[in-house]
Amino acid sequence: MSPTIWFLTGSQHLYGEETLVQVANNSKQIVAELNGAGLAIPVTWKPVLTSKDAIRRIMLEANGDDECLGVIAWMHTFSPAKMWIAGLDGLAKPLLHLHTQANVELPWATIDMDFMNLNQAAHGDREFAYIESRLGIARTTVVGHVSNPQVQAQVDIWMRASAGYAASRQLNLVRFGDNMRNVAVTEGDKTEAEHIFGTSVNTYGVNDLVEAVAQVGDLEAEILAGAYEDEYDVVADLRKGGDRYDSLIYSAKLEIALRSFLEAHDAKAFTTNFEDLGDLRQLPGMSVQRLQADGYGFGAEGDWKTAILVRAAKVMGAGLDGGASLMEDYTYHLVPGKEKILGAHMLEVCPSLTKGTPRVEIHPLGIGGKEDPVRFVFDADRSRGIVVGLSDMRDRFRLTANTVTVVPPDELMPNLPVGRAMWVPDPDFYTSAACWLTAGSSHHTVMSTALTAAHFREFSRMAGTEFALIDESTTRDGFEDLLRWNAAYYRLARGF
Ligand code: MN
Repeated sequence: MSPTIWFLTGSQHLYGEETLVQVANNSKQIVAELNGAGLAIPVTWKPVLTSKDAIRRIMLEANGDDECLGVIAWMHTFSPAKMWIAGLDGLAKPLLHLHTQANVELPWATIDMDFMNLNQAAHGDREFAYIESRLGIARTTVVGHVSNPQVQAQVDIWMRASAGYAASRQLNLVRFGDNMRNVAVTEGDKTEAEHIFGTSVNTYGVNDLVEAVAQVGDLEAEILAGAYEDEYDVVADLRKGGDRYDSLIYSAKLEIALRSFLEAHDAKAFTTNFEDLGDLRQLPGMSVQRLQADGYGFGAEGDWKTAILVRAAKVMGAGLDGGASLMEDYTYHLVPGKEKILGAHMLEVCPSLTKGTPRVEIHPLGIGGKEDPVRFVFDADRSRGIVVGLSDMRDRFRLTANTVTVVPPDELMPNLPVGRAMWVPDPDFYTSAACWLTAGSSHHTVMSTALTAAHFREFSRMAGTEFALIDESTTRDGFEDLLRWNAAYYRLARGF
């Protein structure tokens, strides 16, 4: 698979062959500039479109091509938009309307009507946008010359979101057991999720995993445990020859078994549930943390919705500085002026949130009634970031996002042996928490220190689902109004 974005140029026959050759050359130049800008996904130029049939056909080809993650459209000249109705109506891939033109400067001294007719995106794109809006086509509009870094950055964000959306559409998600008993927010409509996000969510008995663990050979586990010792700061007890080396071996077997199980089911995301561990000896900790670091989506307590978000965030953020992890709002520091949120989980926070070397430790777990689990212990690095929760509002899925600053803890927390993050939410702790609660959003989130709100807004637009953002400019009153408008909009937008 070589993912790519198709570049479609609109024109018409009215201008004659010579002009169409120029249109083609100019649009190839735009594609070359995009491809030279180091963006996330390469762009493929497609022949200039001048007829209704050609437009409809290329859109259907885009739908059928698994390598095509999305379509960029630009009207170099005027392209009468009734020609685009059938094509746009049929398009099922993300659409970016690039409102650009070949030239940066007007050629003041030489400009004539030929130049005007060739370079008229200013109104050709308005004609195109009219039909997009009239048909209610979800799209992203980017305005400016492609040499402009801001234009390139916006295209890159849309490309990354397209990749995340494509990943969610082809995602198989394995749940070991159901969700935690009596918990509401981790529930949801899996059939609707497959419609909206494309993800296939299916449950397997945890003893299928137990069986896979039993099939892992000792030597294979010892080799992996040796790699742990080389790569991480492993406490003495867990090292080869230490009293608890056996627990590290079991953790390695869990990782190997999880990997092989997920590969056998072509799955890139999974959930576990500490209430339903069957004959597993430990709650999977370090194994889950390592799989997340390799790009797998994960949700604890059967939370498949957060697992989808973690997987999407891993794909959208690939190659960027920072990481992504399952996160849980756990407890607060409420000293006035120093308010912070301490996030963690029982075990399963992904070490991609730090550039430091995690420690590998073993401690008892208060719940679950199993042997002590092996886990990574670390603090997330200082960074800008975002937390995003996904809740099922019965008639739609709501993504709630909050931009945050991950900060170091004020003091050491020597008795808290988990991967954890501490953050100050935007616009301030009180507004953030009140808005989050008003949205009824989840306690599980994906935390990304690689992505911004813009990535998730694009992702939501592609999935056609609600996005409610809490950021620097959010007020409680404004946010409450937004939720009210959204409730009305999403009910109406579904039709009857
Ligand atoms: Mn949890």
